[in-house]
Amino acid sequence: MTDATATETRDLFSKFDPLINEREALLATGVRDPYAIVMDQVLSPTRAIIKGKETILLGTYNYMGMTFDPDVVEAGKKALDEFGAGTTGSRVLNGTYQGHKEVEDALKEFYGTSGAMVFSTGYQANLGIISTLAGKGDYVVLDADSHASIYDGCGLGNAEIVRFRHNSVEDLDKRLGRLPADALKLVVLEGVYSMLGDVAPLPEMVAAIRKHPNCMILCDEAHGMGFFGPNGRGAYEEQGVEGEIDFVVGTFSKSVGTVGGFCVSNHPKFEILRLVCRPYVFTASLPPSVVATAATSIRKLMHAGEKRAHLWKNSQRLHKGLSDLGFKLGSETPQSAIIAVILSDQMQAVAMWQTLLELGLYVNMARPPATPAGTFLLRCSLCAEHSDEQVTQIIGMFETAGKATGAIS
Ligand code: PMP
Repeated sequence: MTDATATETRDLFSKFDPLINEREALLATGVRDPYAIVMDQVLSPTRAIIKGKETILLGTYNYMGMTFDPDVVEAGKKALDEFGAGTTGSRVLNGTYQGHKEVEDALKEFYGTSGAMVFSTGYQANLGIISTLAGKGDYVVLDADSHASIYDGCGLGNAEIVRFRHNSVEDLDKRLGRLPADALKLVVLEGVYSMLGDVAPLPEMVAAIRKHPNCMILCDEAHGMGFFGPNGRGAYEEQGVEGEIDFVVGTFSKSVGTVGGFCVSNHPKFEILRLVCRPYVFTASLPPSVVATAATSIRKLMHAGEKRAHLWKNSQRLHKGLSDLGFKLGSETPQSAIIAVILSDQMQAVAMWQTLLELGLYVNMARPPATPAGTFLLRCSLCAEHSDEQVTQIIGMFETAGKATGAIS
């Protein structure tokens, strides 16, 4: 092996030099690395020990707090005992156990659909479904702020990408109007956008899409599942467009509280995807303990009205508290369980992030290219298990950190 670090020669790593230099300069200022946090102990869905300090978690996607639900944990332990640690195989070979069927049945019931397909992650669900449905010569029309897994699905399938301005119905309509009428199109929307926590105007978007021929609609409900709609199906349920969405993609890594991804649909030919979708076929299936925890969690989320109400209250309180303090937020009104605090630059974002951590609060720091329009964000995501008292404490910590760093006056 060669020691490339010892020389100045150009190699395949050279393209990362600007990022390496930027990180080195930032860390040289003495701040902690926001991307190297270790949770030494996790005490509950909302508390962990980080570097010896008890810390409130406000940067997880554990919206419904299911990670420590006793029934969920018990189901995982039982499956581990009865079925072992892993499947060691693809869903289409030796990797389909009774538990995989059970979690797909739970999803079909949760979503009221005839088909459900489980993937090893939500990333792979988008990668697989989008690349398999839309191939060379087809179009994927997507929101400019779409998640990386959606863009990567377009790349893998070699479809033509057409982007429209974030949440702009007018731009979506205009761009669809420019495409050949006989071309096949997949329009990909997200119910809730994870960076700013804003929600898509789905009925208006669906109405615009339906003016154009040969369009199917996929809605990613990664951040809507559990929280939105009378049955917790997502923003598309809350906004009454269930009959119009051809495919819903989601993940087990947020409200469900474990790991995995899925797609549900009523399309009569949906099952064929199991044989032609490469990110489904050519990878090992989820371990039995994971599908057992997911199935139990999904069934409990069907009756989680009280948790949904408390999460909504938490989100409204935090949004009001932060906006009263003078922070600039990603959306003017609380729209979801994600509240993004917009900061002026990387130095200020890191200073705020580190001060909050020292006070005992963990939030996510997000930066370009993950964030829209080059913004630096502190992303707060609330949990149904955050108590009223914790939300009060969180607002107090933001006030202290904001004043200490000059982010607010
Ligand atoms: N879609 C969206 C909108 C997401 O935000 C994410 C993850 N943050 C995913 C898909 C991928 O989910 P997973 O973590 O299960 O890979």
